[in-house]
Amino acid sequence: MQTYKFRLYPDEKGREKLDQTLELCRQIYNHFLEELNGRDDVPPRTELQSQLPNLKERWDELDSVHSKVLQMVLYRLYSNLRSLSEKKKNGYKVGRLRFKGKGWFKTFTYNQSGFKVVKTENRLDILKLSKIGEIPIRIHREVKGKVKQITVKRAQSGKWFACIQTDHEENRESGEGVVGIDLNTENYLTDSDGNVVENPRFLEEKEEKLKKEHRNLSRKGKGSKNREKQRVKLGKAYEKLVNCRRDFIHKLTTAYVESYDTIILEDLNIDEMCENSRYAKSNLSASWGLFKELLLYKAESAGVEVVLVDPKGTTQECNQCGSVVPKRIWNREHKCPECGFETTRDHNSALNIKKRGLNKLGRGRAESTPVDTGASTLTHMRASSVVESGSSFLTSKAS
Ligand SMILES: [Zn+2]
Repeated sequence: MQTYKFRLYPDEKGREKLDQTLELCRQIYNHFLEELNGRDDVPPRTELQSQLPNLKERWDELDSVHSKVLQMVLYRLYSNLRSLSEKKKNGYKVGRLRFKGKGWFKTFTYNQSGFKVVKTENRLDILKLSKIGEIPIRIHREVKGKVKQITVKRAQSGKWFACIQTDHEENRESGEGVVGIDLNTENYLTDSDGNVVENPRFLEEKEEKLKKEHRNLSRKGKGSKNREKQRVKLGKAYEKLVNCRRDFIHKLTTAYVESYDTIILEDLNIDEMCENSRYAKSNLSASWGLFKELLLYKAESAGVEVVLVDPKGTTQECNQCGSVVPKRIWNREHKCPECGFETTRDHNSALNIKKRGLNKLGRGRAESTPVDTGASTLTHMRASSVVESGSSFLTSKAS
């Protein structure tokens, strides 16, 4: 089983229908909970389920909800009951299940039937939901396997998502769909899958140009026409640099959000990191700040999870055996004397970042990902190729 989370973009009418479905599911949940509360025994779920057709005759609105969705509400009620009694068995003091108040019911589920994903050639595909209609959906990554179940969810923010569950057997322990990213000064970034994105040289060129224009400005006489002209030139050079940087980072962050479910970064103090950089501190820190900002923003929209981990010791620790392998700032290689693992310094860091993220998510295991990707398989990409090929640069490697 694998679950993919995608953002839905319902129009106003679609939102109304989704809201209405949620509300009716909430009422049905409370209806059956009330019934259970009034009984001494807990009847089998199928017994309550068999009441649904009768209930529909008395309760016209229920007709606007797919029958499988209603059945799944009962399924959920019973699974809540089960976990409550398990807690009781484990010695926890538990009360009864509570009625769901307005706004406390946030999901409903189509199981096996009542849904269809229709691919378009556009940015948004279509999710057809029985009794609700067509909802635009942003399927930002390939769905593997046969779709078994779709859960529609309203987030706290009011955004709607679809969690699509398929029969694809995801290898969770190997961290499929998860990437660790190491931002560093040597190259722009290195990730745990061995992608190396180099520092954008064209940005450095633009920075140089900006400096030059700045020098020129100080040479012009105050209040002169030439000075005014130079000021405009400087402004343009600055604008170009900012636009170029934004464009580069937009494409890079889109590529990651489209290629992975979970992205793990170090929780860095960016200013501190840039102190020893040979690049202008302000530029690199602005660039990483923007990278993080755009990544978080896009990930949220796409339902991709971003995990921030403690950066302490990610460089020194051997990803394969956990030994501490001290390195000076100029040591660009990781060579572990204990286990023999060899790769670049940044790739080892990226693997450690991924490992920490997986541990944080409770998906780790003692010895993390077995790595057969040595330094030789690292894929170097010039920044210009990221910009040219856009988001396809990561996927071309993955497939
Ligand atoms: Zn080692």
